Formats: sequence, structure tokens, C-alpha cells
Amino acid sequence: MSDQPHENTQDALTRLERELARLKSGLELLGVRACTCCQNLFRATEPGNLFDAGDLVCFACIRHWWPERSGKLASQDRQLIEHKLAHWLLNHHGAKVYYDHNKMPPEDQQELRLTAACEECEGKGVWAGTKCRFCGGQGTLCLVIPKAQTG
Ligand SMILES: [Zn+2]
Ligand SMILES: [Zn+2]
Repeated sequence: MSDQPHENTQDALTRLERELARLKSGLELLGVRACTCCQNLFRATEPGNLFDAGDLVCFACIRHWWPERSGKLASQDRQLIEHKLAHWLLNHHGAKVYYDHNKMPPEDQQELRLTAACEECEGKGVWAGTKCRFCGGQGTLCLVIPKAQTG
């Protein structure tokens, strides 16, 4: 039996925490960042990996993160992030804009759907006194990422 005192748990935790913090800053130097939802690590140099809304959120987490987050935001902030998110999905994830809700792919073929206020008319559906051409007067745009075709 050793009479050497065991490293007490608190010390061990502190040491671990310090090591983790060092690792984390090392990873950040390499451009690797964690999703704030699932804590998975991503290469942040790839703009499609993490959506930056103050918090970094990965594509897989967007679908549950956004409905929850959007409910907590003031409407001005919400629109700002909504537009940013719409652009991110369009630019990096092959989202398509649907003006006509009837033309959208069936729900089981949608990977992700986002309804965003139209940027042109700021969700009013009217632009310069006439029906907004961009959203067809609906004030909203529907973005759909179709499911990857298999087979
Ligand atoms: Zn995530
Ligand atoms: Zn519009």
C-alpha cells in the first residue's frame, strides 16, 4: 500500500481544465471551432461549416437551433439573422427559394426549410406602392434544401 496522498479531485479537475483550455486555444489557432449546440468541432475556414450568429452553429444543429433562437430575439435582430441565415443556406448549402408554396417539394423530400421575411420589401409584400416582385407580394420567402437523392 502506498501512503502517497492521492491527487485530490479538485486539483485534478483544475489541471484538466487548464489542459482543455490550452487545447481549445490551439485548435482555434488552427481555425477549428466548436458548434455551440453539439460541441462538435469544425474547420471554421470553410464558410459552410458553421453559421455565425454571435454563436457558432453547425448545419446539423440549425434546424432545431433557429426555431428556438428566433423566438427569443427582438424582431429587428431576428430579421437580420434570418437574412444572414437565408444567404448562408443559399450560398453554401444549395437551398432553393420557392415563391409559390404549392411548388415546394413534398415534406419528406425536404432536408431543411426556412421561411424568411422578404428582404426587398422587408416582409410587407409591397414595394414602392406595388406588389413586391421579389416575393410576389407574399412578404415571405420559403427556402428549401432538398434531400440528397439516393440511388
Ligand atoms: Zn452542431
Ligand atoms: Zn418582397
